[in-house]
Amino acid sequence: MNSDAPTPSARIIDGRASAARIRARVARAVETLKREHDLVPGLTVVIVGDDPASHVYVRQKGEQTREAGMVSDTIRLDADTPEDELLRLIARLNADARVHGILVQLPLPAHMNADAVIAAIDPAKDVDGFHVQNAGRLSVGLPAMVPCTPLGCRILLEETLGDLSGLEAVVVGRSNIVGKPMAQLLLASHCTVTIAHSRSRDLPALCRRADILVAAVGRPEMIRGDWISPGACVIDVGINRVPTRDPELAAQGKTRLVGDVAFDEALSVAGHITPVPGGVGPMTIACLLMNTVTAAARAHGLDPEAILAD
Ligand code: NDP
Repeated sequence: MNSDAPTPSARIIDGRASAARIRARVARAVETLKREHDLVPGLTVVIVGDDPASHVYVRQKGEQTREAGMVSDTIRLDADTPEDELLRLIARLNADARVHGILVQLPLPAHMNADAVIAAIDPAKDVDGFHVQNAGRLSVGLPAMVPCTPLGCRILLEETLGDLSGLEAVVVGRSNIVGKPMAQLLLASHCTVTIAHSRSRDLPALCRRADILVAAVGRPEMIRGDWISPGACVIDVGINRVPTRDPELAAQGKTRLVGDVAFDEALSVAGHITPVPGGVGPMTIACLLMNTVTAAARAHGLDPEAILAD
């Protein structure tokens, strides 16, 4: 080993452990809803087409929903299903009182308009938090369904740093699913927020300002160690599949997952960092379960925070 190599100093944020705590809290909340209100939260996931990664995610969502004691239903539609058939299905689910959460797995086949499909979901059942009403409510500080991945990131940040108020946060990425709602949540937590994107100038300098650096870009290991301010808390949302390090195995097509941050470099600079896998990833489904309980509680006039309190 090279003795000049920098010493790893960052503490690794354990997203699996945090997600397990959330799932346990959700399961307790579900018990309470059943026992005291005769209410069983229900989540319906709709998947269109054959995208293998989407089928894996949907299976995991179904398993974890059932494990938490909720009703899970998965509706699989063929890739060539007409959009109006999907819209009619959503209308039926909107009207079904047993369904508290509706999630349409993205991406949709090219002939469908994802915006129109999301707009058709009752905002109160939009457990992904992608409906424009929920995005608007989040931005003006009203109770909203909050997108699961950024919600999970904020939970990890609060568990790691406590009060976030006054911290400099830089979010790299401005998608409606991750970057923008992440920035809104950090703003709501009283951070000073910068959103960077593909047109931003001098990204390394922007990143170096961050006490909290959230990477949601989708480019393997783009954020280098020397872009990170010493002691910063780094949340790596990226999930990228790259060839494995062993050239022989790589030649056989074996892959590994990496984030948007060069993890080994970041380890010697950051104060805290999420690994990939095992960081943000597990939080997403845990927050989906939490959002489903929230939707069920609100549908019955109950306070979700009280129901989900430890
Ligand atoms: P999108 O492709 O929708 O958005 C990527 C963002 O990164 C865009 O705003 C884009 O900028 C910006 N960007 C791209 N290239 C650069 C660059 N060179 N410099 C600066 N910014 C750049 O991706 P998502 O937000 O949906 O996802 C981001 C990553 O997070 C992906 O790896 C995805 O797999 C992962 N992900 C992980 C989840 C989890 O559960 N852990 C859930 C969701 C996503 P511009 O707008 O200018 O094009």
